[in-house]
Amino acid sequence: MSKRILVTGGAGFLGSHLCERLLKDGHEVVSVDNYFSGNKQNIAHLLSNLRFEAIRHDITFPFYVETDQIYNLACPASPIHYQRDPVQTTKTCVHGSINMLGLAKRVNARILQASTSEVYGDPEVHPQTEDYWGRVNPVGIRSCYDEGKRCAETLFFDYYRQCNLQIKVVRLFNTYGPKMHPNDGRVVSNFIVQALRGDKITIYGDGLQTRSFCYVDDLIGALVRMMNSPANVVGPINLGNPSEFTVLELAEKVLQFTCSKSKLIFMPLPQDDPKQRQPDITLAREKLGWEPTVPLEEGLKETIAYFKKTLG
Ligand code: NAD
Ligand code: UDP
Ligand code: UDP
Repeated sequence: MSKRILVTGGAGFLGSHLCERLLKDGHEVVSVDNYFSGNKQNIAHLLSNLRFEAIRHDITFPFYVETDQIYNLACPASPIHYQRDPVQTTKTCVHGSINMLGLAKRVNARILQASTSEVYGDPEVHPQTEDYWGRVNPVGIRSCYDEGKRCAETLFFDYYRQCNLQIKVVRLFNTYGPKMHPNDGRVVSNFIVQALRGDKITIYGDGLQTRSFCYVDDLIGALVRMMNSPANVVGPINLGNPSEFTVLELAEKVLQFTCSKSKLIFMPLPQDDPKQRQPDITLAREKLGWEPTVPLEEGLKETIAYFKKTLG
């Protein structure tokens, strides 16, 4: 059945893919975005669809609309974006979540929170399971995001317990694909853009830190499954691709698939940069019947093709 669905952060990387998917499924979609790190270009092709509406709004301020479901994705996700205005990042996570939870309560909507693997901080448990409480620095340069997202999870569970809200909390691990912002500093987009331009590939630290990269189509499928899962599935549930790579391995693959002659350059590791990260997705497999299917090689090729086109 067609639903009215609100996507906060709808003009961002993941939000724009999600809007597209929900429209394809026949729903009415409202995107709310203040364009802090998103881009109108990401949703330009949807604007002619009468079931789609794009509203400029900052979710740290109250917002009134009628809706059946809310995907709360608004929040800058890349370190350079969320560190540009750290106070605003915390406000988006905390005040923004309160407003969206208040809205969900008023209209009795289901609400999904896009949380993050960053709630685990620099983890001592590997791979990370949902019952691990994490190791997060509360006063570092990543804290506005990490602690903001942790507090958002707290708010979701308190609205669930206190107001009986229908919540869904998912912890997303590094996701990549077309429509990533070319300058947002994330490792996959950085390396591809550098390789295509023949610039040096910037490896932070020794490049032996690991990440697990999930292709965007896989992730969007999981978000929709989670939202429509039985009411007793509230999470938190990890979503990501468990195949783990070092940053150096990623650089080598990007160089190979772009046929680039770019050289590597080693730069200082940013403060509090987690050394390893890999999701345990047993719960997602059990509760959602989901697992990623796109291998890194395939996803990288799609993403490279996108950047080739947009960079001209
Ligand atoms: P993004 O920066 O591309 O998208 C976020 C969107 O939210 C942007 O369009 C931005 O303009 C908007 N926004 C920011 N603050 C806002 C505010 N106060 N009010 C309204 N809109 C606001 O990032 P993304 O990669 O698409 O991430 C989407 C969500 O998923 C974020 O909440 C992020 O924390 C989470 N997440 C993403 C990843 C990933 O690898 N991409 C990993 C973990 C978690
Ligand atoms: N809110 C909103 N839209 C709504 C309903 C509520 O933005 O449709 C905001 C409201 O401004 C409030 C917050 O959500 O600050 C939390 O609402 P809740 O009802 O939980 O708390 P209260 O209004 O009692 O502070
Ligand atoms: N990274 C890197 N070079 C870059 C950008 C990032 O070596 O140009 C490293 C970064 O230090 C981190 C990893 O790649 O160890 C992933 O960084 P990203 O910002 O994409 O995500 P996050 O650290 O939030 O997982």
